[in-house]
Amino acid sequence: MSITGTEQAGLLYSVRPSKARVQFCSRCGTIPGARERRTASDQAERVCDVCGMGVMLSTAQGALLKSGSAFLVVTDDLRVTAVSQPAEALVGKEGSVIGANLLSLLSCARGDGELATCTARAANGARDVVELPVTVEGAIGAARFLARIASCGPPRGALLTVTPALSS
Ligand SMILES: [Zn+2]
Repeated sequence: MSITGTEQAGLLYSVRPSKARVQFCSRCGTIPGARERRTASDQAERVCDVCGMGVMLSTAQGALLKSGSAFLVVTDDLRVTAVSQPAEALVGKEGSVIGANLLSLLSCARGDGELATCTARAANGARDVVELPVTVEGAIGAARFLARIASCGPPRGALLTVTPALSS
């Protein structure tokens, strides 16, 4: 059910990917299908139907490509407010990550200052989606990743989707 719904949502959004928004769960990362998307009258109840733990947020369609992604949600002062279950394998369990400073978890090959600036800009509502090369602090073998950074909310924050970087 959910797989079919997600595919349909992707097709619907392909018209204007830069302006379309996608909903996602802050915990399990599920992207509901078009028919499951909540209407305005449902907005008060924003807890995820799938895992029952996460809150439904929205972000730019291009920022989150599939359900179950590894991501962090970060405030404009770089405090982590949510970590998806798939991201725990990278940065640690939710209990140790919530409230941590982003720069204690990730560092950026182009400088931590750029990572901090892009994250703060997204958390303040920037509409563009930025990609930066990052490494996960403490990861064995200095594994390289790509962080896709975009605004999300409400409440307003930065979504950092972390995917393995292709080695070149
Ligand atoms: Zn969920």
